[in-house]
Amino acid sequence: MRSLWADTAPASPPRRPLPGDRTVDVAIVGGGLTGLWTAHYLAEADPSLRIAVLEAETVGHGASGRNGGWCSALFPASLDTLAEMAGRSAALDQHAAMRDAVGEVGRAAEALGIDAQISHGGTISVVRSAAQLTRARAEVAHARSWGIGEDQLTLLDAHAARERLDAVGTVAATFTPDCAALHPLRLVRGLASTLDERGVSVHEHTRAARIAPGRVTTPHGDLTAGTVVRATEGYTPGLPGHRRDLVPVYSLVIATAPLPPETWARIGLARRETFTDHRHLVIYGQRTADDRLVFGGRGAPYHLGSRVRPAFDRDERVFAGLRATLVELFPVLRDVTITHAWGGPLGVARDWCASVGLDPVTRVGWAGGYVGDGVSTTNLAGRTLRDLVLGRDTDLTRLPWVGHHSPRWEPEPLRWLGINAGLRAMTWADTEERLTGRPSLLARTVAPLLG
Ligand SMILES: Cc1cc2nc3c(=O)[nH]c(=O)nc-3n(C[C@H](O)[C@H](O)[C@H](O)COP(=O)(O)OP(=O)(O)OC[C@H]3O[C@@H](n4cnc5c(N)ncnc54)[C@H](O)[C@@H]3O)c2cc1C
Repeated sequence: MRSLWADTAPASPPRRPLPGDRTVDVAIVGGGLTGLWTAHYLAEADPSLRIAVLEAETVGHGASGRNGGWCSALFPASLDTLAEMAGRSAALDQHAAMRDAVGEVGRAAEALGIDAQISHGGTISVVRSAAQLTRARAEVAHARSWGIGEDQLTLLDAHAARERLDAVGTVAATFTPDCAALHPLRLVRGLASTLDERGVSVHEHTRAARIAPGRVTTPHGDLTAGTVVRATEGYTPGLPGHRRDLVPVYSLVIATAPLPPETWARIGLARRETFTDHRHLVIYGQRTADDRLVFGGRGAPYHLGSRVRPAFDRDERVFAGLRATLVELFPVLRDVTITHAWGGPLGVARDWCASVGLDPVTRVGWAGGYVGDGVSTTNLAGRTLRDLVLGRDTDLTRLPWVGHHSPRWEPEPLRWLGINAGLRAMTWADTEERLTGRPSLLARTVAPLLG
């Protein structure tokens, strides 16, 4: 089954593979949001640059075209981790850059005439148990200790929470205005079209077999380039020399048929707020522009050897679990029709810290490890790579994630054992909390390993 996004985005023109050996200034491997934003900002800054994007399938084939459409200010590494890496002030700079990226995605889409159905409605995270309330209060207190005020993160009481989202058992919620819901594939395809118009070469069905300084090898020919950028996220382990840089973790999604106004009157999300709750195993949802609910979560297994296969995009057990959770949250959806179910791999670094960089000697650059927070972070990566490639020293190139090198993942089968044990632990932690009514001890033990 195709994703909802693939069924509702304007068609994309076919783009021809690399037509033999070519020479460019910048070669970008990966036609997701990282690759496309990087090409966009580079072409905008210096229209004379010869830029080529190589995509193994079609643009948006990866996570960028299939995600939950949260354009959030979330960054996978916490403020505390960033402060340990680079100091408190640098951590706050990264936080501010993430908030700005949410707005920049909207501004850029509008300036480029891309209708990505963006609604800047914020995120509501409902609290549905005493243990979740303890966590939500701690999250707000922690934000305050960083000087993050009510305007960025607020604790809502039950009444205020239910006015926004009436999920069963809601006793409170946290709310942040720093998120927009969008249609990810419309954004990807819109960006790719603007690149076509600017004369940037986007070659589809062109898989890079190898990335080396100054050269990308493909079955269609070699691309020689002054700078090479790797933007392959969850697919990175498939490239020689990068097997243990990132791991692909699957996230799966379902979408309902359009819901009538009377159903929405009972659920809420009048401003198309994105939503989740304070459980351990991640869930995420959005109300689409055509009034469906798109709802996703983790829980699908990690596959030995960091394999990525189309068959892994579907897991009937996880889809059934997502549907059950959705109905548990909103019983009015008891008989709802699920029209679409899909999934895809996101990329996780060993220390759960996203990074972007350019080696000044080899002139090989990269960006990735966004976990589930890449929709906005890819935009920040694109602008940062622009500055790095052009040799500019800017506020962006001084952010703490720039040039960060995460440790490599363990060899197999340790990787498989550890990641799947972590995923299981998060499910058990939620069960433990349901049974005991207290914050999970298991989660506290495992959380430091999971970022
Ligand atoms: C189901 C799901 C839900 C998600 N939900 C959210 C969300 O709501 N909000 C959020 O912020 N983030 C979310 N994410 C994460 C987010 O989508 C990603 O972090 C982001 O899209 C990564 O963009 P990217 O361009 O780096 O990678 P990708 O979009 O994965 O693009 C990489 C591209 O590289 C291509 N490629 C790979 N290898 C090669 C090669 N050798 N040669 C040429 N091309 C190659 C692939 O085909 C792919 O198109 C979600 C991810 C998934 C899977």
